Parts: sequence; structure tokens; C-alpha cells
Amino acid sequence: MMPSDLGTSVARLHDLVAEAAAILPFTGAGISTECGIPDFRSPGGLWEKTRPIPFDAFMASAAMRAEAWRRRFAMQGHFGQARPGRGHRALASLYRAGKVPAVVTQNIDNLHQLSGVAPADVVELHGNTTYAACLDCEQRYELDWVKARFEAAGEQPPECACGGYIKTATVSFGQAMPAAAMARAEALADTCDLFIAIGSSLVVWPAAGFPLRAKKRGAKLVIVNREPTDFDEIADLVIRQDIGDALAPFIAD
Ligand code: NAD
Ligand code: ZN
Repeated sequence: MMPSDLGTSVARLHDLVAEAAAILPFTGAGISTECGIPDFRSPGGLWEKTRPIPFDAFMASAAMRAEAWRRRFAMQGHFGQARPGRGHRALASLYRAGKVPAVVTQNIDNLHQLSGVAPADVVELHGNTTYAACLDCEQRYELDWVKARFEAAGEQPPECACGGYIKTATVSFGQAMPAAAMARAEALADTCDLFIAIGSSLVVWPAAGFPLRAKKRGAKLVIVNREPTDFDEIADLVIRQDIGDALAPFIAD
């Protein structure tokens, strides 16, 4: 069902949340737009301005790696200042209440962790852009350190002591999905009784397979997104409203 008004939507979601023992929130860029981080596919979103740099291009040229870092530092005004929004806070409340064992996210902004979900319980399918790592030995690097070295070297990206390239800890297009996170997300989708997709256009595979996986197994499916998705037809509840408005009633602190 897709109620036309916010009140009915929230009331229905309230019932589904109350009935559920294990809720799996699956979040995309839409939960963070109210935090000042644009999404990819909305009008005016990042996708329209700059196409992402694919992984093979990053690996193939120092000029591309430098460009990737310039773009990342330019985004720091968005990612560095962002605080959790109402959607993040609502999910953190359900997590604290024992309703949500873990959050699966396509986001890279660290906002679920900042909202109070333990980092071990945030399953990041596309990594995290708030720090960097060596692609060979996985040594972690802080962005401030990378930026200082980058600027001191005339915009040459620093390399790891092991000789590997340093990249934000994100999964680029063409880069392998993190196996452990994928396995954990699948296990969560296989054991939840309520799957709530929030702020994702649900077009990026394999991540978009999760709602279907949970639904096929018998979990209830809720989609909260202001634009239609391909899965609306099979959802038990579609909330085509602003995410912050829809989830604010679930904030318990
Ligand atoms: P997307 O951009 O494809 O889809 C976002 C969806 O959220 C859109 O359908 C849009 O209509 C909806 N939306 C935006 N703001 C909303 C609001 N306030 N209320 C209701 N709906 C709203 O995002 P995606 O499917 O998550 O894929 C983009 C990929 O890019 C992600 O996988 C992620 O890796 C990356 N990304 C991450 C961030 C972030 O970390 N915050 C931001 C942009 C892109
Ligand atoms: Zn290294």
C-alpha cells in the first residue's frame, strides 16, 4: 500500500515496527541529503556534475589519482561538517531499543556511526570516505595527513610505505565489493522479518538485490523514498515522503 498522507504512512510503519523482532534498515544517499550531502541521482545531484572515477582509471594513472584526491578534498565541506539527520537518529533509537541488530548502508559518510550505532554494526557496502587506506596492505591513513602531503608535494598523491596507492576507503565503480560486508548483509537480509529500504534508488547492483532477497523469504518490505523505485510494486508499504519527516516520529532521545 502507498498511503497518500504522512500521518497514515507513519501509523502503518509504527505497526510494522512494533510487530517486528529483527528490522534491517538498508540506507542510501537519500537519508543524508538533509545533512547537506547531495545524492547521486536526484536533480542537481552529484551525478549530474561529475561522473565518478572508475577504479581502473584510478589505478592506471597518477593524474587520475591526483584528480580523485582534488575532488575528495573539494567535497570535504560536505562530508567533514555533516551531522546525523532525523533518519539516522531514528534508526539509532531503534538500534538502542534492540529492534535493529545492524544497519546496512550504501553510504560512505560515516553518519550511522556518528548517530550512535556501533561501528561493528554498520555494514558498509561501498566503504567509507571519511578516511583512506592503502590498496595493498590496508594501512589506514587520515585525510588531513593525505592532504598535507598532497599539497606539500605539488599535488602529487602520497603513496604508502609499502609502495601501494592510497585511496579513500570507498568502493569505486569497477572495484570488488567487500566480501565480509556482503556476506554480513546477506545474512542479515536472510534473518530479518522487516526490511526497510531508505533513500536508495535501488538501481545499483548487487546492493539492490537485498530487498528482493528479504521479501522472497517472507520478510515484510517497506520503501521510504521520495521517488518511485522498481520495487514499489512488491513492497508492503511505500512511503513516498521526505525521509526525515517519515522517520522523525521514531526518534526516542
Ligand atoms: P541515489 O542517489 O541513487 O538515490 C537516492 C534516492 O534518495 C533518490 O531516489 C532520491 O529521490 C531519494 N531522496 C533523496 N533525498 C531524499 C529525502 N530527503 N527524502 C526522501 N527521499 C530522498 O543513492 P543510492 O542509491 O544510495 O546510490 C548512490 C551511491 O553513491 C551510493 O551507493 C553511495 O555509495 C554513493 N553516495 C553516497 C553518499 C553518502 O554517503 N551520503 C552520497 C552520494 C552518493
Ligand atoms: Zn601499504
